[in-house]
Amino acid sequence: MAGKIPSSFIDSLMARIDIVDVIDNRVPLTRKGREFQACCPFHEEKTPSFTVSPAKQFYHCFGCGAHGTAIGFLMEYANLGFVEAIEELAETAGMEVPREQGGGGQKKDESAGQLLGLVDQASNWFQQQLRSHPDARKAIAYLKGRGLDGRICAHFGVGFAPDSWDGLLNELGDSEIRRDQLLKAGLVIRKDNSDSKSGNRDMYDRFRGRVIFPIEDHRGRVVAFGGRVFGEGEPKYLNSPETALFHKGAELYGLHRARRAIGSENRSVVVEGYMDVVSLAQFGVENSVATLGTATTRTHLQRLFRLAPEIVFCFDGDRAGRDAAWKAMQVALPEMQDGRQLGFLFLPDGEDPDSIVRNEGGDAFKARVNDAMSLDQFMFDTLLAQVDMTRMDGKARLMSMAQPLVGQLPEGTLREMMRSKLSSLSGLSAEQMGSVPGKQSAPRLRRRTQPLEGALSPLALAIAMLLQNPSLAQTIERPEMVEQLTLKGADHFRSMLSQISASPDMNTARLLEYFRESGVHEYLQKLASYETSIDEEVLERHFNDTLATIVSQQDEQRRLALLEKSREQELEGAEKEELLELLKGRSQTMVES
Ligand SMILES: [Zn+2]
Repeated sequence: MAGKIPSSFIDSLMARIDIVDVIDNRVPLTRKGREFQACCPFHEEKTPSFTVSPAKQFYHCFGCGAHGTAIGFLMEYANLGFVEAIEELAETAGMEVPREQGGGGQKKDESAGQLLGLVDQASNWFQQQLRSHPDARKAIAYLKGRGLDGRICAHFGVGFAPDSWDGLLNELGDSEIRRDQLLKAGLVIRKDNSDSKSGNRDMYDRFRGRVIFPIEDHRGRVVAFGGRVFGEGEPKYLNSPETALFHKGAELYGLHRARRAIGSENRSVVVEGYMDVVSLAQFGVENSVATLGTATTRTHLQRLFRLAPEIVFCFDGDRAGRDAAWKAMQVALPEMQDGRQLGFLFLPDGEDPDSIVRNEGGDAFKARVNDAMSLDQFMFDTLLAQVDMTRMDGKARLMSMAQPLVGQLPEGTLREMMRSKLSSLSGLSAEQMGSVPGKQSAPRLRRRTQPLEGALSPLALAIAMLLQNPSLAQTIERPEMVEQLTLKGADHFRSMLSQISASPDMNTARLLEYFRESGVHEYLQKLASYETSIDEEVLERHFNDTLATIVSQQDEQRRLALLEKSREQELEGAEKEELLELLKGRSQTMVES
């Protein structure tokens, strides 16, 4: 992967986003005073104890102890890694994630950059082959036969891989490093039983005799390829393997190009293959994307829902298509906040979007999309087909199948409507149905986080106060006290102060993010959610008093240590002076003042 993300970027990202939006988009929040509330997404509960503070940009659950910043929330809730969470937030904020040069990150950054560069060169080479290779005529004839013109092929960067074992390898594999990179990018395959020192002869091109579709990531960079045979041959479709650049579960073919159309149509259409996406675009349906040989994932859905509130899945009408649709629906249920819509479009047997749009045209396809089955229709039709509703045990079976599904929906109108539909089908009242099982069936049950027990040490308390109210930094009455702090943790306190002075509008979450990799991050998060129960009017006073207490305790410890030492040996000059100072009671006067 790319290099380290500079902490300055994380800070400006944290300054730009609002945790309330980030969470509200996933777990609808209601305002309560200065904070926002919801039932906790991390443990099962009926009354909300999950609170989000806009001032601190921090969430905290009084029930299970879950807490953190917007980044932490995404990591926990959407199961993202740190970098992915940053990328996700940056995308919503319209920011580009920079990578740090220099230091340890440089080598990694370079190699990711080089890998991208190499993949891009490969893409250009494939396109060039389509234009100039003598065998490309067959590929072009195939594309024309599918109704694709040169303009649309150029738009999608369609290329051609000649039927040769080393075309690309000879073109780009001119050094051992480059051959190694081709391997890492999934463009060549190493023969079994060969070592890395044998040069070109022991590797061969992955894509041979195929029409090539470059796969771009959501930022529009080519990261992988899909190849389709146009004559005989198996498999019909061949994709790049997972690489450092390419994650099937995260990327959707055509997303970058479809972005604008999805926004203006207010809807995305998910199809199964890249050929479908390209054909649809040829016929004016530009809001489609394809999964890449994998089932739909939550990351896919989240990417699409961020662009438009409706997703229509397009599947074959056969058994396999229905099964795939059912799986997609199950993945989507927890994402179905109010305002979002799912549609299921089943195509006639033997047809795919590519063939349909060529036979019927773009408008007819759009009309089919308009008439797609709704989520409730699909869910209940599928379930009802499996039970005999004239029998009591049939109704009971329907309930046992439907309730866990409905329970996956986030709370809201859709869930209520589904419940009442279920109630009318079964003839049971809502009360008789009992409460629909909540999210305990979701995989997000988390370990209870232990809160901090009992009172804090004065330094921990000072850090907690400062974390929760960064503006306290400006109220420190005796800055020299801060310099005098020697206790473990004092450096963290000082570095917080310097972050705040560099950025006066600092908030809790931004401060916490500075310490994510420090080893004390988890402890600081607990301090950020520690209930100090100090009234706001006396906060400044209390903060300054706490600092004075720390200094005096520290002095006391030092005084005792020096006295102890003096009993055993002669103190050095500086130590003598220090002890004298301490005996005069430097801090004593401070506490009293
Ligand atoms: Zn909780």
